[in-house]
Amino acid sequence: MSDDKRLTPAQLGVGDMDPEEFRAAAHRVVDRVADYLAGLEAYPIVPDLKPGDVRSQLPATPPGSPEPLDDILGDYARLIEPNITHWQHPGFMAYFTSIASGPGILGEWLATGLNSNVMFWKNAPASTELEERVVEWLRSMLGLPGDFDGMFTDTASVSSLLAVVAARHSIPGLDTTEKGMAGHPDMPRLRMYCSTEAHFSIEKAAVVAGVGREGVRRIPADDEYRMRPDLLAEAIAEDRDAGWLPFCVVGTVGTTSSTSVDPAGALAEICRREGLWLHLDAAYGGTAALVPEMRSLLEGWERADSIVVNPHKWMWTPFDASLLLFRAPERFREVFSLVPEYVSASVTAGAHNYNEYGIQMGRRFRALKMWMLIRYFGAHGMAERVRHHVRMAASLRDRIDDDPDWERLAPVPFSTVCFRYRPAGLADRSEQPEIGRQLDAWNEEILNRVNASRRIYLSHTRLAGRYAIRVTLGNLRARTEHVERCWDLLEAAARGVDFGGKTL
Ligand code: PLP
Repeated sequence: MSDDKRLTPAQLGVGDMDPEEFRAAAHRVVDRVADYLAGLEAYPIVPDLKPGDVRSQLPATPPGSPEPLDDILGDYARLIEPNITHWQHPGFMAYFTSIASGPGILGEWLATGLNSNVMFWKNAPASTELEERVVEWLRSMLGLPGDFDGMFTDTASVSSLLAVVAARHSIPGLDTTEKGMAGHPDMPRLRMYCSTEAHFSIEKAAVVAGVGREGVRRIPADDEYRMRPDLLAEAIAEDRDAGWLPFCVVGTVGTTSSTSVDPAGALAEICRREGLWLHLDAAYGGTAALVPEMRSLLEGWERADSIVVNPHKWMWTPFDASLLLFRAPERFREVFSLVPEYVSASVTAGAHNYNEYGIQMGRRFRALKMWMLIRYFGAHGMAERVRHHVRMAASLRDRIDDDPDWERLAPVPFSTVCFRYRPAGLADRSEQPEIGRQLDAWNEEILNRVNASRRIYLSHTRLAGRYAIRVTLGNLRARTEHVERCWDLLEAAARGVDFGGKTL
């Protein structure tokens, strides 16, 4: 008994951590994170690990008895922090930016403390109403009309899935929400459209929505990787003749490979004429609309039925946060609202019950971090940061354009540049298959060398069959000197590549 007095409630096997112990530990955690962010550049971006290296240092069985916090935090510092890929690092320029800004982290921490589950207004009144407000703020910051409603989800993949399901539900006369998709021999096969450049999450949405991958028709893109509306119109007509039932078009604003922008206005016109739902995947590119003078790039996107923009990409929001905007909330509610007895008392008439608009019942309180971030930076401050990233990308683009040994492989509408090393002497012959294969191999080698520096981290894609190195800017911590470093490493890597004695 006397021993028990020295043990905390958690150690006794009852209750949570003691509040004062929590306070002290929380201060240590805050310091740890602040030190991490301040010292990020000391870490190599990618750890030198083989699969299993971390796991083998973690005990195979969980501890039976309580462990001291010092040990736990010590293991975090030793095993976890150094052994992640550092997405927060200013030299991380791969894929699309996904960083957590200071105010975003603070908001995430506060939301975690509250653990508000934003399912029904009654269970989460302030969280629900903050989400309503922040969605309205973002909608207006993006320059979209006031008839867009919306909500936060976890990812663009899920936002697009919800939109595809709402689009499917909107097909007149099928009632797929009640009847389902299976066992209807009389049901025509559904068809949706996206470009050859669209993200694979659209195909996954088709799989989950019962449309299937064969139900996704990929429309060819033009030589700037934008969906060709003339071919879309032809495909719809051809499919109708062949007995398919077209129901949805997914355009992309900022494709994953080249960041091309499908012509939203032309797609909206086709959708209006054909009675199809237009969903726009603006997971990355939508953020550009924070900058009023960039909105012309997205012209026509305001005519979509639904749009997804990911704050956890180029809006510096800690993972995860995806903004799904839609014009007809009732379509989502008709599909997703189910009110069994055990929650019926939680439904408040006239209030927003967010779980009725999506698949999840329990929902994270994502609006708080967005609210803190928007207030801390301000709408103008956010726009200025986007401009800065676009300027840095433009300076890299200009370097590439000015250097005859490098070749840009796509326009740069936003903050991502795709290019390859192509010695000037090969310019005339770069379309020859053998030379093309050689260039692919050299560029892969250049990328590997840059990444091996572990001070800059890039990814690649393939554009018109050509291996393209891809640099994306959008990290709040990246400054001009990081772009310089990236360029210097690229040049050094290109100089160091073994060209196998080839005459150039
Ligand atoms: N759409 C586009 C255009 C993307 O580039 C990505 C990811 O990079 C996604 C969707 C998927 O995003 P999420 O990871 O939020 O599902």
